[in-house]
Amino acid sequence: MWRSRWRKWRSWCARRNGACGSGSADVESLEAALKEAKKPRQIAVEIDESAGFCPGVRRAIQVAEEAMRSGARVAVLGELIHNRREVERLRSLGLEVIEDEQLDRNSQRACRLLIRTHGLPLAVRERLERDGFEMLDGTCPVVQRSQKFVRQFAARGYQVLIVGKPNHPEVVALIGQAPDAARAVLDPEGVGELDPSRPVFVLAQSTVDQSRFRAVLEHVRAIHPRVEFRDTTCRAVTGRHEALRRFASEHDVVIFVGGKNSSNTGQLFRICQSVNPRSYWVESLEEISEDWLLDVERVGVSGSASTPHWQLEEVARYIQIKAQPLGEYKEVTSNG
Ligand code: SF4
Repeated sequence: MWRSRWRKWRSWCARRNGACGSGSADVESLEAALKEAKKPRQIAVEIDESAGFCPGVRRAIQVAEEAMRSGARVAVLGELIHNRREVERLRSLGLEVIEDEQLDRNSQRACRLLIRTHGLPLAVRERLERDGFEMLDGTCPVVQRSQKFVRQFAARGYQVLIVGKPNHPEVVALIGQAPDAARAVLDPEGVGELDPSRPVFVLAQSTVDQSRFRAVLEHVRAIHPRVEFRDTTCRAVTGRHEALRRFASEHDVVIFVGGKNSSNTGQLFRICQSVNPRSYWVESLEEISEDWLLDVERVGVSGSASTPHWQLEEVARYIQIKAQPLGEYKEVTSNG
């Protein structure tokens, strides 16, 4: 109906020969506008190139996959990474997930035990080895270095303060390198009393916020004369913050992909959200709402260090398919 009215109106304008606005020039510009409106809306979907597995997670997964490919029965103590769908994928390849207290020496001794990126307390590792388990060490090299610092400084008589969450598995494993000398501290208030006769060594859980680490360090320096420290925060995490802020600000909408049980994913998502309020955190495609894609030209897809690249690509493809029919364009037929 609209198309036939449009044709009638155009021929009427042509007959008037200039009486309708500026005549043929207006007709041409209206035709161009109609042509433009009929084009399917193009949305650019870009994947954040700094997103995806960090080197430590990539390495641990490689260790597990290689062992499984060799035909070995492989089990991991606890969830290998905080990404439910990637854990499901690894389970489908044969990876068993067990907790330390569930270890049944008789039925599971045939397993090779994979240590997660967070590492294990020394005593736990030694006990498992004594029990005859063959260990596959997936401890991230960055964490291994921190563990070495804890052992070395504790052996030299230092009080060791680890800035991080006391129940985080990495912190538990770090304390477990020297339980008599090391403890976790979350903020300056948590430092409490220090032994004035022994020096202090301060280091960080790999994913802790650098400003938190600095605040604790400054406090310890203010109350103790002999302090040494190493900033052991992981560059794969802290180095991403600025790049992520830039990425979030350059896109109309950001879809952040990652496990809802991952504190690192939550931390990175909040950075996105602080820069771009149109940021959404999803674990799977079903959570993506088409409403998020209305009136957008550039959609960014990002994720944390525990988000595999296949999940980022899956979301990007899904948005490309979903986004095209949306927007202002509607086909106008002669039937109305
Ligand atoms: S975030 Fe850093 S410390 Fe943690 S596993 Fe990845 S590379 Fe290792």
